[in-house]
Amino acid sequence: MRDEKATSAGWSPRTRLVHAGTRRSSFAETSEAIYLTQSFVYPSAEAAEARFIKAGEDEFIYARYGNPTVRMFEERMAALEGAEDAFATASGMAAVHGALFAALKAGDHIVSAKALFGSCLYIVETLLPRFGVEVSFVDGADLAAWQAAIRPETKLVFLESISNPTLEVIDIAGVAALAHAQGALVVVDNVFATPVFQRSLDLGADVVIYSATKHIDGQGRCLGGVVLGTRDFVRGVLEPFLKHTGGALSPFNAWVLLKGLETLDLRVRAQAAAAASIAAALQGHPALARLIYPGLPDHPQHALSARQMETGGTMLSLDLRGGKAAAFRFLNALEIVLISNNLGDAKSLVTHPATTTHQRLTPDQRAGLGISDGLVRLSVGLEDAADLTADLRRALDAAL
Ligand SMILES: *Cc1c(COP(=O)(O)O)cnc(C)c1O
Repeated sequence: MRDEKATSAGWSPRTRLVHAGTRRSSFAETSEAIYLTQSFVYPSAEAAEARFIKAGEDEFIYARYGNPTVRMFEERMAALEGAEDAFATASGMAAVHGALFAALKAGDHIVSAKALFGSCLYIVETLLPRFGVEVSFVDGADLAAWQAAIRPETKLVFLESISNPTLEVIDIAGVAALAHAQGALVVVDNVFATPVFQRSLDLGADVVIYSATKHIDGQGRCLGGVVLGTRDFVRGVLEPFLKHTGGALSPFNAWVLLKGLETLDLRVRAQAAAAASIAAALQGHPALARLIYPGLPDHPQHALSARQMETGGTMLSLDLRGGKAAAFRFLNALEIVLISNNLGDAKSLVTHPATTTHQRLTPDQRAGLGISDGLVRLSVGLEDAADLTADLRRALDAAL
């Protein structure tokens, strides 16, 4: 049988997405098998003892530690990202929680961008301090603020680029240089940018995290997550934490995500192309105070975005002049685009952050993050771009 792991190093990302990490059973199936098993049996007591001392490449013990289908997903993700290893988790938040809690202890200091996905903000702002970790928040787009906040004792920096929901672009290479000068670990949540468009490890990140729930599944079916990094970090720091705390990915969901990876490149390229054409078509509509898309020249970090990401991405944000009332008229007038809080889906989805994902924040906190009452976040799906543009334009007209 061909060894797809040995050969995948020479393949381009698109080929890796289809083949990397595949482990075939003795039946030589074409599509990856779903090993829906919790545990594994041993031919002898001696074999069980040996496996608990050191499990080999194709030896598994218990699905909370690892499973062949989950391992295929981890290896395919690692091959795509160019990481030494990966650990898959039940959700994106299990990945964020696992990576941060495995790497940190009481007394540590971290620096985080303040524009974060809501649950990431809860972990960094509320949970970590409860366990004695000191957190400094910075405006992620301001490199001088990172420089001022990172100290010799800073253990880790955390950021999302592109950020949610205002689509700020953070200079990952710049932040990584500042962090590494002080010996801090750089952890990047790369969900919005996708592994296809932004290669955070190449830009200097040490650890990259995905919610696979988003573009990687991309068809609205299951939760999943993954943490990627060096073998020392993944197996030495992360695995002991995750295998004993129970954030394991289900083998069935790993299989769904493997199928998602096969089409990831095609999907996100089509979604980004549609997002770019929608952004260009809607810019300047009288209902809009601002249209935010990193691929447009008027985006404040457009040059950085062009350098750091292959496209402007699949997300755009619209700031409606008429505040919440106009935003609600816009949402309610849409016929194709669905109201939801998810993103990265084949179906175009629209969210009003101020009343949903960021409702918990005070008005002052929302203002500090640029989340106005008129702000709407759009995840562009796989529908025809002209249909989407017509739907969005009609709904903007209705919001006037
Ligand atoms: C969705 C998301 C998460 C959390 O992922 P889940 O799979 O929902 O747990 C974390 N970070 C970002 C940027 C996200 O968009």
